[in-house]
Amino acid sequence: MGREFQTVLAALLKILPDYEDMLVENLVRPFILKDEDYKLLMDIMLGEFNKGLGKETNPTAKVKMYPTYVRDVPDGSENGNFLALDLGGTNFRVLLINLNGQEVTMESKIYLIPQHIMTGTGEQLFDHIAKCIHKFMSNHDLLKEKIPLGFTFSFPCKQIGLNHAILTQWTKGFKCEGVEGEDVVRLLHEAIKRRGDIDVECLAVINDTVGALMSCAHSDRDCAIGLILGTGTNACYIEKLENVGLWDGDYNEPNQVMINTEWGALGDDGCLDFVKTEYDRQVDKHSINPGRQIYEKMISGMYMGEIVRLALEKLRKHGLLFGGKGSEELSTRGRFYTKYVSEIESDVDDHFKNTKQVFEELALEKYSDEDCRIAQYVCSLVSTRAAFLASVGVAALLNKMDRQDVTVAVDGSLYRFHPHFHDLMEEKIQQLVKPGIKFKLMLSHDGSGKGAAIVTAVANRLRDSGKESIGENGLEN
Ligand code: ADP
Ligand code: MG
Repeated sequence: MGREFQTVLAALLKILPDYEDMLVENLVRPFILKDEDYKLLMDIMLGEFNKGLGKETNPTAKVKMYPTYVRDVPDGSENGNFLALDLGGTNFRVLLINLNGQEVTMESKIYLIPQHIMTGTGEQLFDHIAKCIHKFMSNHDLLKEKIPLGFTFSFPCKQIGLNHAILTQWTKGFKCEGVEGEDVVRLLHEAIKRRGDIDVECLAVINDTVGALMSCAHSDRDCAIGLILGTGTNACYIEKLENVGLWDGDYNEPNQVMINTEWGALGDDGCLDFVKTEYDRQVDKHSINPGRQIYEKMISGMYMGEIVRLALEKLRKHGLLFGGKGSEELSTRGRFYTKYVSEIESDVDDHFKNTKQVFEELALEKYSDEDCRIAQYVCSLVSTRAAFLASVGVAALLNKMDRQDVTVAVDGSLYRFHPHFHDLMEEKIQQLVKPGIKFKLMLSHDGSGKGAAIVTAVANRLRDSGKESIGENGLEN
């Protein structure tokens, strides 16, 4: 080998790692959005909120801004025993909740909803739910009792009363025939009737966002936003009645109502196309609801792992990861769980203990520390974008409400377990809110159970007292 060639080769080898970094950077750069992009996205979100709220504009709006029939936060006097159902994503739970002023106790059990029921018929789904309620009541020796039930049903619904919710469309992997366009409480009551062996009446149906808000507001009166970052993403907030074009209830005090934004549908008209990556487009294409829930698909737990997997696969195919050699697992759709993102980003030193563990689980045979570093980088880009996108929505709500102090109740495993989500959101929201608005992001514990129980308690009290509509406690029936 000639000397000159050797020198050139040595020089090449020296810049190779930098060159590789550059190639990696090229493939993942689309995940990085500019500050101006986030600002623009917030303005888009704000516009969509207003479109959804307007009577004339609502029919063509993608972000539906459904008025709930929950008008106020709890006053702390709610008490009694309640059953609650939590259906809306990864787990289905039945809960027994005792409210006694500030004291709340609860027992719950998770029941599996098999895949064939998630995509079967509505009758199968509600028969299954009724069976689980029966099992739960039997195990808790409650079969002889009549206990009011609250239903946390976390799919887009048009509510026509506190215990009437018409499903507009399934999301998050559910697709049961014959439910869209129907009142889910009626379907539940019919299934209970078909069994004939339990005495349960559903008094209230709420969204999990409302549950989170109510549960948190039980101890914090400043709470005015409920946010979910779990299987899906969504938020609700307290809006003045004068701004709610679709409000058809009374205008008694308090002149406000909780609005379930259903913001996961932002982008379904293409308004997010300018920030979508090829990975987002693939996730959408292979989902059960293509073209729908675009914002949700860029943020929530059901999709984040898959976005990362697609990016890692792309890098591998370009020979930039694992020496170009992948595994069947890494090539399998849905096999890279969102919890891996949390685990990988929780590695704080160069031992990459969690990251290597994930690689082992994915049956990857050859990996270097550089591979660990790159995987960690990809995870952080995708989760940071998700946290910032969610912040855009929260900041839009804060700016719209324009209250001085607002607590945001947050629930969902993505927010709960990801090591940086909370901090990233605080940082981004702070950048985006109007000066003077103070906010707090607070983990809401068991909103879907406690929140449903609180709303049901008030509904029950109103019914017992023979009041038809809203009282000082803020619920209309
Ligand atoms: P749901 O939204 O269905 O009520 P959760 O709030 O538990 O339920 O959210 C479930 C979602 O959270 C799943 O999609 C899963 O991917 C994601 N998830 C579970 N564990 C973690 C974790 N450790 N880190 C990040 N995401 C997680
Ligand atoms: Mg939940």
